[in-house]
Amino acid sequence: MSRLTDLHDLNVSLILQALRSHRKIARFALADLTGLTRTTVSNVTNNLIALGIVAEGEQGEASAQGGRKPVMLELNPQSLGMMGLDLRREKIGGCVVCLDGRMIRHVSVPFPVNSPPHIVWQAIDRVVTELMAGLEVPVMAMGVGAIAPLDLQTGRLIDPSDFTMPNMPLQAALRERYGLPVVIQTGASAAAVGEHFWATQEGTRLRSLAFVIIDHGIGLGMISDDRLWNTNGLGSDVAHTTIDFRGPLCECGRRGCLNVYASGKALMRHCLEKNLVHDAQVDLSALAQRAEAGDEALQAEIIEAGYLLGLGLANIDSLLRPERFVVGSSHEYLSKWYFAGIEQAISELPQYSTNNTHLLERLLLSTHGSDAIAYGAATLQMKAFFEAPLTILNQIASVA
Ligand SMILES: [Zn+2]
Repeated sequence: MSRLTDLHDLNVSLILQALRSHRKIARFALADLTGLTRTTVSNVTNNLIALGIVAEGEQGEASAQGGRKPVMLELNPQSLGMMGLDLRREKIGGCVVCLDGRMIRHVSVPFPVNSPPHIVWQAIDRVVTELMAGLEVPVMAMGVGAIAPLDLQTGRLIDPSDFTMPNMPLQAALRERYGLPVVIQTGASAAAVGEHFWATQEGTRLRSLAFVIIDHGIGLGMISDDRLWNTNGLGSDVAHTTIDFRGPLCECGRRGCLNVYASGKALMRHCLEKNLVHDAQVDLSALAQRAEAGDEALQAEIIEAGYLLGLGLANIDSLLRPERFVVGSSHEYLSKWYFAGIEQAISELPQYSTNNTHLLERLLLSTHGSDAIAYGAATLQMKAFFEAPLTILNQIASVA
């Protein structure tokens, strides 16, 4: 097939976004909705049908002017997919997301904290190989939600603590290894995009969203007026906001940071100090698994950390008042047990007692559980496709 030189990115984007939000729609309705001429709509949709991105379905209702019943168009969800990776200190998660936002595969491979680079790469290879094996959906690009800080200009990890790949040119290395276009972002920012982008598809247009990721630190990703709040790859250091100025000294030099009470690192330290765990190598995933399996002392410890995090979240809420406030973690069950404490703290706060936009009504656990970051990372690429589709459509056309 020839290159799609007669199409304009913006027109194709308008039509794809209309198809995304309406699911089934006739050509004349697409023209009304987008303001494009019927000729342009026909030209674009015919090309999209030829590429397999759009399918013609059943007949719908005739237009107000009467006439024949029109053919309804819809996106073909299996026509392309994006891969998302979630790089943490002790695991790599990954998933593939289709054109309709469905996650069709997800894989997670653990490795010990501070593993040498070749062990981390082995785990990444395994995740990518397992995601791609026998997959019928063509994967067009890869997004990564990584541990901060990142240099987004050069696509590098800077110097994340407890991770042995400082200055790693992650973006270029992944692109070379797997032959896919790659974007990187902090994990919390990726998760925020994943939660926000698909929520708007379901008819609830969210203007603002905050996503808090519980890991060794506490990450915050924010969407404001449909745009990702740009932290320039450094991540929002919400862990280093003070909740008790007389509190214990934090590694950052301040006292009583959220970090010393409520971060995953603090939780692990408290559990070791109280002999709730005996292995200094214990990781957050193992800790959360044990709580989920019924260890009541651990449950209480995580709920306590969650309670203190709840006080921090209320501070963020006073500042930003997001329409939706989401809590998640890459460690399965961890955010669930934190959430119990967060809810308790917020329900006790007096500032919400007379407020009809109570934080509890806007607060929820991540839709995609421990895949939130990987799902969000794939969504970074899916969002880029919907906004400027021609690069990828030309790739599909060139192999068709
Ligand atoms: Zn601090």
